[in-house]
Amino acid sequence: MNYFFSTIFSFFALFLKPFSVKYSCLLKWGDIGMDLKSIWTTFLAKIEEQVAPASYDVWFKDTILHNIEDNIAYIIVPMEIHKTHLEENYNNIMQEIFTDITGSIFTFKYLLDEEITSEIKEEPKTNVIMETNLNPQYTFENFVVGESNKFARATSLAVAEKPGFMYNPLFIYGNSGLGKTHLMHAIGNYIIKNSNKRVLYVTSEKFVSDFIGINKKNSEGNNFDNVEIFKRKYRDIDVLMIDDIQYLGNANQTQQEFFNTFNDLYGNNKQIIISSDRSPDDLKLLEDRLRTRFNWGLTIDILPPDFKLRMDIIDKKVESHGLNIDFPQDVKEFIASNCTSDIRKLEGAITRVVAYATMMSGSNITLDLAVEALKDYFTKSIISKNKINQVQQLVANHYNISVEDLKGKKRSANIKSPRQIAMYICRTVLGESLPKIGNEFGGKDHTTVMHSVEKIKQELKTNEILEMEITKIVNQIK
Ligand code: ADP
Ligand code: MG
Repeated sequence: MNYFFSTIFSFFALFLKPFSVKYSCLLKWGDIGMDLKSIWTTFLAKIEEQVAPASYDVWFKDTILHNIEDNIAYIIVPMEIHKTHLEENYNNIMQEIFTDITGSIFTFKYLLDEEITSEIKEEPKTNVIMETNLNPQYTFENFVVGESNKFARATSLAVAEKPGFMYNPLFIYGNSGLGKTHLMHAIGNYIIKNSNKRVLYVTSEKFVSDFIGINKKNSEGNNFDNVEIFKRKYRDIDVLMIDDIQYLGNANQTQQEFFNTFNDLYGNNKQIIISSDRSPDDLKLLEDRLRTRFNWGLTIDILPPDFKLRMDIIDKKVESHGLNIDFPQDVKEFIASNCTSDIRKLEGAITRVVAYATMMSGSNITLDLAVEALKDYFTKSIISKNKINQVQQLVANHYNISVEDLKGKKRSANIKSPRQIAMYICRTVLGESLPKIGNEFGGKDHTTVMHSVEKIKQELKTNEILEMEITKIVNQIK
């Protein structure tokens, strides 16, 4: 049965979580990535597989991709007859293969060598496809702002508006799942939408693997091309974003190269954006000179989202799922109460609940359903029978009163308020039913529990200290 559920979940996750897909956008023609020669070599190899050998020799073997501009691919052919013959007989298959390789659709224009105009001739020979690696889903528009990330968002937007101008480098740090990668992509997407600037986003692992790749020798036994390609990729750009720099590791040579790249870009007023799970000072494996440089610009952190932000994010995600079933408030609160420190986990919880409801042939989403759907997803032990007692104990300890008082009937403020808090936690974090909570609190009526939960909810809207106290207690639940 478990296997059945997890299969179904993975299936739904395919539809519900487009965010996990890695995108590699081939957006513009620039100076990095795949060069014309490699494109054409790949193209010819594929054509060769598809056409008769004799045809290949006559019609394709001696062609050269000369340039690509304004969605036209200029191909040099050996004789006049090639122009019409290719056009009339091979256009479709050529289009198909070319699109496959480049990710964009082009029309072909055939030229004899002597027809190349001076204008085209002036184009740099290494005109190539620019890779940005940006995920178009991560934008400022769908980045929900709250207390914990508003500074990070504001500075990111300032950088996006004027890259290389202020805050260089921009160093964003914070725990996993708090939106660092999302913000970086948002900056990149903003820049490519509003300017012609060249943007490159890579993880630090990618940087390392590209750097290691330099040493691969070509068929002539040297690696000159690789060095050149690497330099172009990382230096002929306007904005470089390196995600999760903590994985740059302590490979000296890689750090040296990163140092050189950094200096080169920085010296040319190019924007550098770095993310990490810790502050520059805590990046113990990095050389001092890199750490110092990271502190030249602006360092900002993203903190875990507070309850309000978690609720706002849930609203946004539910909205973006385009659900036509109702996602009740208490389910949102249940999820927000249990995912306190990782937005990725919060998204996963929504996906699970939706998938579960769909799987139950479209049943309504209710708190009971959510508790069931998420029972293995949230820390296993959180939802269990004796959790109510544990919460009572934690609350009693926190407010320095006895569990008996919590369960009892005393109505003095120093007892009544912790009792309401305990009931609130049992309801919203444990997802326990009202009657059950009433029962565990000395046989109180479910309306009393409901009233208490409401009371705390209202109070939380304005009382930040209470929120901190509750978070502290919830974090102790084992
Ligand atoms: P990090 O890089 O810090 O580990 P991510 O940027 O990958 O975190 O964020 C994890 C998930 O949470 C992503 O799907 C992202 O879209 C989402 N997310 C994070 N912060 C926000 C936010 N403020 N608003 C909306 N979604 C967010
Ligand atoms: Mg990340």
